Amino acid sequence: MNLNLSNKVILISGGAKGIGGAISKGLIAEGAIPVMIDPSEKEGAEILALGEAFQIPVRLFDAADSENVVKITLEKYGRIDGLVNNAGANDSVGLEKGSPEEFEKSVAKNLNHYYHLAHYALPSLKKSKGSIVNISSKTAVTGQGGTSGYTAAKGAQLSLTREWAVELLPYEITVNAVIPAEVYTPLYENWINTFEDPKAKLESITAKIPLGKRMTKPEEIAAMAIFLLSDQARHITGQHLYVDGGYTHLDRSL
Ligand code: NAP
Repeated sequence: MNLNLSNKVILISGGAKGIGGAISKGLIAEGAIPVMIDPSEKEGAEILALGEAFQIPVRLFDAADSENVVKITLEKYGRIDGLVNNAGANDSVGLEKGSPEEFEKSVAKNLNHYYHLAHYALPSLKKSKGSIVNISSKTAVTGQGGTSGYTAAKGAQLSLTREWAVELLPYEITVNAVIPAEVYTPLYENWINTFEDPKAKLESITAKIPLGKRMTKPEEIAAMAIFLLSDQARHITGQHLYVDGGYTHLDRSL
């Protein structure tokens, strides 16, 4: 299958590690040029060594951060063909353990740059008839408890996927969301290590993943994201695609 991604310039927030890192590596393998927006310079350097790629080492927060990232990318490459909104972290700001200020900050940190990047990249995406892929989370539809800010942001990413898919129909820009559940990444490792017995906790989670009783690999999320960025997915838009080994929807008694 020809994905026709050669020389396509793709912005990826959080593109140096975890799921974003796997997307960047997969894009290089397809001949595309990932622009990693990620402060993790050590991991970014390892990806830069694999082929044509670029890193902008910033932690996105304000609109000006995203505006600047788009400006730098256009100065270097003159085009943007795709955007993967991926950066985020489950920061455990809950209803009980949390404050209004922490909630607002958590939502802002996990959500606002999804809008900012799409907004500033839009003129370029209109020219390229590009694609947007939003990485959300199963917590948006299942809840998790103790993480109001993160789940509010993840749910909003799913509604913005539908909203932008509609708004961008006239430009033939596709907009889709990929929904992971349990993927072993640096973020996940940090979270599992907060439990008293991380090994036992991990075993209890993997035992509940219907397909193969194993975690989803970052490369398996990346494969879906890369397909959605490709010419083979030009008639897919507004979709929420679960890549989770059946974790969210299949019978838990399996
Ligand atoms: P990860 O291992 O922490 O990798 C994310 C990368 O993004 C890190 O390099 C991180 O840098 C960077 N980053 C974080 N905030 C950023 C920001 N504001 N601007 C630029 N870069 C930023 O995380 P992951 O597990 O791959 O998660 C990626 C996405 O998948 C997130 O949206 C997450 O919610 C979603 N997700 C993950 C899972 C899972 O099981 N792993 C499940 C559901 C959804 P630092 O490390 O320096 O912060």
